[in-house]
Amino acid sequence: MKTIGLIGGMSWESSAVYYELINKIIKEQLGGFHSAKSIMVSVDFAEIESLQRKDDWNSLTEHMIKSAKQLENAGADLIILCTNTMHLCSDEIIKNIRIPFLHIADAAGKKIKSRGLQKLALLGTKFTMEKDFYRTILAKYGIDVIIPDANDRELIHKIIYEELVLGNIKNNSREAYKRIIKDLENNGAEGIILGCTEIPLLIKQDDVDIPIFDTTKIHAENAVEIALKN
Ligand code: GLU
Repeated sequence: MKTIGLIGGMSWESSAVYYELINKIIKEQLGGFHSAKSIMVSVDFAEIESLQRKDDWNSLTEHMIKSAKQLENAGADLIILCTNTMHLCSDEIIKNIRIPFLHIADAAGKKIKSRGLQKLALLGTKFTMEKDFYRTILAKYGIDVIIPDANDRELIHKIIYEELVLGNIKNNSREAYKRIIKDLENNGAEGIILGCTEIPLLIKQDDVDIPIFDTTKIHAENAVEIALKN
């Protein structure tokens, strides 16, 4: 079994889910006393959030490269970055390490393609919905991305930063997300990408009729698949 390196803490609420998922999947697959070999570098999200607000992507990229190198030096065989948004720095991370980096949007793209869907709505932070680093990867899998309108993007972003990353899961926010998802479905979405690792804390498949793609789970499954591959 290879050692999975996780860059976590963005937020720790979703990193905890990653940790639980990779161990559960290993246990399901190998049985007995098996658990995942892993190393996590967990950052202080306050530092990250403040740099994101200043749009200081150079400093954010330096942080991410440093964390990836720490994992590589500590003996990780592969790296996953446990947040969609920070994949904005992924090209630079990849250039600075020698071990494989499993991109979250590649994992999501492969999964969606295997289900034969093409028009997907993307929910995430404003960075993920509005910049093109994420949709460019999805386009490689023939996926056409639609996003909510500006007011709804603002609302989704606000709920992520003011509630979900702090572990506050509120019913009225779930209802707001469900309404937005319904609107996207009416606009032709065949599925919904939960492109923020905290959204699955709020929205589950049972909450909506349309297929959802939980990027936290898909990414964790992808990491285990590679960790167990010869
Ligand atoms: N975890 C989130 C994501 O998947 C948002 C927090 C962050 O900015 O990293 O995008």
